[in-house]
Amino acid sequence: MRAARLFGPGDLRVVDAPVPRPARGEVLVRVMSYAPYGTDVGTYLNRHGRYVSAYPVGIGADFSGVVEECGPGVEGYQPGDRVAALALDHCGDCANCSQGRTNLCLDPNFAKLVRQTCCEEYTLVSARKLAVLPDAVTFDDAAMLAGVVDALNAYEQMGLREGDTVAVIGVGAMGLGAIATATALGLAVTALGGTGRRCELAEGLGAAVLSIAQHGEDLTERAHASRPGGFPAIIETTASDWGIAQAFAIAAPGGIVALTGGGQLPLTSWDVVDRELRIVGVRAGHHQAQALDLIASGKLSLRSTISGRFPLERVADAFAQLAGEGAKDIGRFIIDVGGAR
Ligand SMILES: [Zn+2]
Repeated sequence: MRAARLFGPGDLRVVDAPVPRPARGEVLVRVMSYAPYGTDVGTYLNRHGRYVSAYPVGIGADFSGVVEECGPGVEGYQPGDRVAALALDHCGDCANCSQGRTNLCLDPNFAKLVRQTCCEEYTLVSARKLAVLPDAVTFDDAAMLAGVVDALNAYEQMGLREGDTVAVIGVGAMGLGAIATATALGLAVTALGGTGRRCELAEGLGAAVLSIAQHGEDLTERAHASRPGGFPAIIETTASDWGIAQAFAIAAPGGIVALTGGGQLPLTSWDVVDRELRIVGVRAGHHQAQALDLIASGKLSLRSTISGRFPLERVADAFAQLAGEGAKDIGRFIIDVGGAR
């Protein structure tokens, strides 16, 4: 098969590789669409040396495909099924998994983050991570699930209901997913960030956008002017120092901040106490079925954010653009791993 492999930071090539065979509990999936997002770009560049410890490695996590072959012990799937996969694997038996909270699996065998790779013609996936796509969900729709799943997890933890207000920090792939999800749930959404066409994409998904003229611009004053007292709920999607600082700067007293990654928190315990802030972590999510339902019902679509398509053989071009200056104008790129449709 043909497979994208990183041979060093920024050195992405498509090479021949053996088609893997599914072991017990695994499914061999023929990959159709793959939509890179920020973590993939971080992996591509090996930012801060924290993504890749040894080369060559595969890349890609958010994808859709067709079941090619089921390994021993796999039930509920058959060749030809159209599928998407959750980001994280889980045991299926522990107390958290039993409650459906599979992203918080208690089994130490699943505590380590093992990243899916999917930018290759065939990939192995644990059957526990898969879901069959409803007919109305396209391969492209299902290749952009991660941001939706994460946002559904965040909004559930924040207790948001139709008509509530949420601020989304960032308008990259994850931010656009969070905005589309907020709109689908009937939330009023203000997005902060973006210097280019991504702002228009965010507006097209229903957000009021406070854009920035340049990276690092402080939006605190404008955010407070647009909502005196601050925002009651904020999801931070950039995992950057800037985004995290903005999130806490615009939180209203009694507000809740959802974090998806990043470094040191820019506040003390007293800052949390003084405003009675609540902070929740978002470790991917388990809301795959809900995400697919929202898409199938027509309430949620990220198709308008697709800025370009690339055959697998040109994936290096796609990543060079996603890692370049022009990224501010790019919504999502689709890698047509399974061939153009
Ligand atoms: Zn578990």
